[in-house]
Amino acid sequence: MIPFLDLRAAYLELKPGIDAAIARVLDSGWYVLGSEVEAFEAEWAAYCEAAHAVGVANGLDALTLALRALDIGAGDEVIVPSNTYIATWLAVSGVGATPVPVEPDPATHNIDPARIDAAITPRTRAILPVHLYGQPADLDPILGIARRHNLRVVEDAAQAHGARYKGKRIGAHGDIVCWSFYPGKNLGALGDAGALTTDDPVLAGRVALLRNYGSRQKYVNEEPGVNSRLDPIQAAVLRVKLAVLDKWTARRRAVAAAYEEGLADSGLILPHVPDWAEPVWHLYVVRSTARDALQARLTEARVGTLIHYPIPPHMQTAYAGLGIAPEALPLAQRLAGEVLSLPMGPHMTLDRVQDVCGKCLV
Ligand SMILES: *Cc1c(COP(=O)(O)O)cnc(C)c1O
Repeated sequence: MIPFLDLRAAYLELKPGIDAAIARVLDSGWYVLGSEVEAFEAEWAAYCEAAHAVGVANGLDALTLALRALDIGAGDEVIVPSNTYIATWLAVSGVGATPVPVEPDPATHNIDPARIDAAITPRTRAILPVHLYGQPADLDPILGIARRHNLRVVEDAAQAHGARYKGKRIGAHGDIVCWSFYPGKNLGALGDAGALTTDDPVLAGRVALLRNYGSRQKYVNEEPGVNSRLDPIQAAVLRVKLAVLDKWTARRRAVAAAYEEGLADSGLILPHVPDWAEPVWHLYVVRSTARDALQARLTEARVGTLIHYPIPPHMQTAYAGLGIAPEALPLAQRLAGEVLSLPMGPHMTLDRVQDVCGKCLV
């Protein structure tokens, strides 16, 4: 059996450090926010080459609070990728704004900057690119469009921990960058967790306020906030895992390189990496018009695979109300029918990659 991702192996490799970190929080007697969260925020900001980080409860809350901190809400439009996880859209609709989808560049599967201009209206307030599969979106043209139209840029970096765009870490290219530490992400907690990073001290302060009841001082509420605080136990775990993130990313890169070599003659469409991108391989996604047969064959051979994502957001019942015709976004629809994510992670061995490649070639 080759699992899609082995989270237990990740825990076991770091067990003494993680267990000690959790015990440290339990022993401290301090269980909400506090020094453990502050220490992780400082370490995460430094890692992301950003001035500030604010810990929150999960990635969807990070996106939602980013939009709220920018005063984006009812009547506003936000440009989102048509090809993304539904959380990107849910944050936009969650604040009462309307997600306006833009199709991907078929080579990278990320939002195509050349298609953004046509989606801008007088109501557009922000562009929300996603660094899908750990591959950075093409940020410079997106930032240029945003500047010309006076729009904000919120990045969904839930899959891109440590990735670089033109040499600089994802973390503060746009106005605010949103992170998830869901267990399966490249930097994953042992439960839900998330954060935002930004170079803007005012935005960082606003998010810190919003995540904690809109309160800086206990029982003094400056605005109607929410409870979306990063749990100090998760912060302590994340500090242990952050220390090995680059080492684990290097292992993912070795796995990706081995797939690239092993699948060169497979007839599958393999990931394309632009020369300005340093991806972190959250997922290794191949494409095939015979995807379902390939997945069935791998399942039969006890190889775990997943589809990211089988139903694009505009085809979900949740967004039937937007009235977007299925054929309005043919690229998103086509990718949903052709993509397959192969086993990938820091505990995937190169022997197993060979094995999987062999089964793809049959
Ligand atoms: C995981 C993910 C999210 C949401 O993160 P949660 O912590 O699960 O709320 C948002 N966007 C993308 C692209 C993701 O992969």
